[in-house]
Amino acid sequence: MNSIDYEVQCAIARDERHTKRYYTLIEEMNNTVNWNVERKCKSKYCLGILEPELYHYPCYSMRLVLTPKLKNQRGKFVCNCCDTMDKWVSESELQEVLWDL
Ligand SMILES: [Zn+2]
Repeated sequence: MNSIDYEVQCAIARDERHTKRYYTLIEEMNNTVNWNVERKCKSKYCLGILEPELYHYPCYSMRLVLTPKLKNQRGKFVCNCCDTMDKWVSESELQEVLWDL
């Protein structure tokens, strides 16, 4: 394989990764049942990277994304600022968040 073939292979692989990520994002958006759950993000990089002066004031906005394709999990909390998954949602948390809508 020459170097141009290699570059083309890499570009195709990158496009495939981006396409997969794009469809995952759309699926997660369609499965989001609450966009603003008041919940503290535990990621040490949240806010700190974009706005270092806010580092000590963590983000409190998460979304609840249902995960219908998973057998053992109902959904997950994901930070609206840094996209980090916080935790799987328990049945009682799910009911509480749905009740708040
Ligand atoms: Zn975060």
